[in-house]
Amino acid sequence: MTSLDELPIRDDLRGKTPYGAPQKTVPVALNVNENTHPIPEDVAHDIVARVAAAIIGLNRYPDREFTELRTALAGYLGHGLVPEQIWAANGSNEVLQHILQAFGGPGRTALGFGPTYSMYGLLAAGTGTEWVTAERDDDFELSAETALAAIERHDPDIVLLCAPNNPTGTPLALDTIRAVADTARGIVVVDEAYFEFAEPGDPSALTLLEGRPRLLVSRTMSKAFAFAGARVGYLAGDPAAIDALRLVRLPYHLSALTQAAALGALAHADEMLAMVDEIRGQRERISRELAALGYRPYRSGANFVLFGGVDDPHAVFEALLARGILIREIGLPGCLRVTAGTEAETTAFLEAMASFAPNRMTA
Ligand SMILES: *Cc1c(COP(=O)(O)O)cnc(C)c1O
Repeated sequence: MTSLDELPIRDDLRGKTPYGAPQKTVPVALNVNENTHPIPEDVAHDIVARVAAAIIGLNRYPDREFTELRTALAGYLGHGLVPEQIWAANGSNEVLQHILQAFGGPGRTALGFGPTYSMYGLLAAGTGTEWVTAERDDDFELSAETALAAIERHDPDIVLLCAPNNPTGTPLALDTIRAVADTARGIVVVDEAYFEFAEPGDPSALTLLEGRPRLLVSRTMSKAFAFAGARVGYLAGDPAAIDALRLVRLPYHLSALTQAAALGALAHADEMLAMVDEIRGQRERISRELAALGYRPYRSGANFVLFGGVDDPHAVFEALLARGILIREIGLPGCLRVTAGTEAETTAFLEAMASFAPNRMTA
């Protein structure tokens, strides 16, 4: 056995830690923003049949251009998008990695607004891209003025906008996205991993794609779509930008099994997304009840809530874990993040929180 320090690892990776949300088997897992409702059984059967059919052909490489999947994704997104404007990979993390590989790299910078998704910094590090974070406004909001000032200051090659933002839940106004897309000289990525949880009718950054070839909008099947284990993320953008991503992807990066499973899930999109309203309702309930308990929930357009007012976040995290409830410590002072689960999971979480709340009624 040797230690990592003794290996000839790249200097810029020395001392770095890998992504590491705890994976624990607990009755109530509300830590990585999955859709905690299981896949409907009839959908699961259809997916199994499609995967079974694909298995017969596994002696051959899969469709490198995943044309059928891109067509299905374009149809799901709507907005008049065509398959040539769609890209996909093993999770939107891989989509983002492709963007950084193609448009970032040594001597280039990517800008984000912290606190934001921890993978951005890791993906930047892995691709040799310099990761720069700028501050948000009060309550983690991001106005166009604040965003533009940071772009002027840092002149980034890539801007990563997380809308709504993880880990804070903060929705991002289309005005801010438009201002950034029209000002930044480089690539602007809007990560809409949680878009389906926005208020119905809220516009997507997809509405801004027309005439903006440097704007890319990424989505995932891991959250609202209840398909995290399948690893499918995707993106919409200009066909020329998609061609750039083709230069860095591994050949046949989406397995035939992944393509078959994703096509099955997309064929039942309505059913797969049926629980989204319910989850949004549980999110609102979490915010309301945590506020009544004296905690400080932040505005969320996602399927999770960041809340402050916790004296000792680590102690609360551990006390919840002792009750079989796993949430997320995200390193923000006085704050914790919880995923909106099923009604029963949410009840278990809220009942536990009530027992260590600042406003707790003393008997
Ligand atoms: C969960 C999440 C993703 C999705 O990652 P996948 O690789 O698609 O599972 C992307 N962006 C953000 C901000 C997320 O929270």
